Amino acid sequence: MARVMIIGAGGVGSVVAHKCDQVPEVFSEIILASRTVSKCEALAANLKHPVVTEAVDADNVDELTALLMKHKPELVINVALPYQDLSIMDACLNAGVNYLDTANYEPPETAKFEYKWQWAYQEKFREMGLMALLGSGFDPGVTNVYTAYLNKHYFDEMHELDIIDVNGGDHGQPFATNFNPEINIREVSAECRHWEKGDFQETPPMSMKQSFTCPEEVGTYNIYRMYHEELESLTKHFPTIRKAQFWMSFGDNYLKHLEVLKNVGMTRIDPVMFEGREIIPLQFLKALLPDPSSLGPLTKGKTCIGCVVKGVKDGKPVEKYVYNICSHEGAYAEVGSQAISYTTGVPAMIGAKMMLEGKWSGKGVFNMEQMDPDPFMEDLNKYGLPWKVVTPGE
Ligand code: NDP
Repeated sequence: MARVMIIGAGGVGSVVAHKCDQVPEVFSEIILASRTVSKCEALAANLKHPVVTEAVDADNVDELTALLMKHKPELVINVALPYQDLSIMDACLNAGVNYLDTANYEPPETAKFEYKWQWAYQEKFREMGLMALLGSGFDPGVTNVYTAYLNKHYFDEMHELDIIDVNGGDHGQPFATNFNPEINIREVSAECRHWEKGDFQETPPMSMKQSFTCPEEVGTYNIYRMYHEELESLTKHFPTIRKAQFWMSFGDNYLKHLEVLKNVGMTRIDPVMFEGREIIPLQFLKALLPDPSSLGPLTKGKTCIGCVVKGVKDGKPVEKYVYNICSHEGAYAEVGSQAISYTTGVPAMIGAKMMLEGKWSGKGVFNMEQMDPDPFMEDLNKYGLPWKVVTPGE
């Protein structure tokens, strides 16, 4: 039985609230806080159990600290934006509250994904006897746990890791992103980095492509290599990995729009003067694009996200693929959101559940792969994201 505060009432926040609401024996009291309180209230109206709603600007450490002191939750589930990670961690330290998020901190002025800012909080959380769990979404999140699970049960040594994120869904819109457009476009237009020869190698965005056939007739898609934050923590925590890459599927139409938007400067994140005031083109573009939460009823098809690992067991070469397939329509029927928000929100709830039940514990800042993968993998099967381990080619 625990009191939690969910910060952020967007696409992912909505799924987290619905999933916590389904497990009242763990999440006995929920406080839903976000910048726009009307979104919290609308969400609360669709839940089974009563929740407390609050307005908060999570960039303001003092304001958030006061709110945490008022409610004294055991844990904050941060599903606001990556820009708020550090201010929310600071407020948690001030108020003595444990912390969980789904995406690593990004400074607003540079699209740079690195754990260094949050790893720097290690000593502060340890000294306070608190736990911060980083990246408890799907990727990062489940992909970290998948890798740890394969390592524990199938390998003596892992050598190569490919994380493959396919969205075989179609929302019928000319151009839309499946989660916060600003964060999504910053991510896909960043320089690509992959791990090889003991270091990160840089290549131009979207310059490496291959075709991937998903299991269970989800289809064949073009996947593009890009940087994703879990590569940094996984290569640190599993140093036998010699090569690690992240791949994501994109349709030709999405890429064509993105190229044009980039060419005309609409994806820029530096301020430009417009009619006497500064605007950031990407933030303006976000205001024009469909709100990802509006895509729920429109999106058909499935996502297929998983990890392929090559390595050795008992001196023999081994290759394993662990994956989940999630239906957009199924997610919408259950919680009123498409599968991208669903596949992020469910692991956020499970990560929180692991912490509150004491199955995952520690003092300091942790990535998911540092914890025992088994209870988390069990809960994935139980709470809507079942997985399979297969041998490719068999
Ligand atoms: P949305 O934009 O839909 O929602 C973000 C929410 O945070 C909104 O309710 C917004 O309020 C609120 N918010 C923003 N700034 C503040 C602030 N300063 N104070 C309080 N609340 C604030 O984003 P998503 O739900 O799509 O994404 C949420 C998070 O999940 C992001 O960090 C994203 O990177 C992460 N994510 C992780 C994935 C994974 O697999 N690990 C996959 C997909 C997303 P308002 O409504 O007022 O704008």
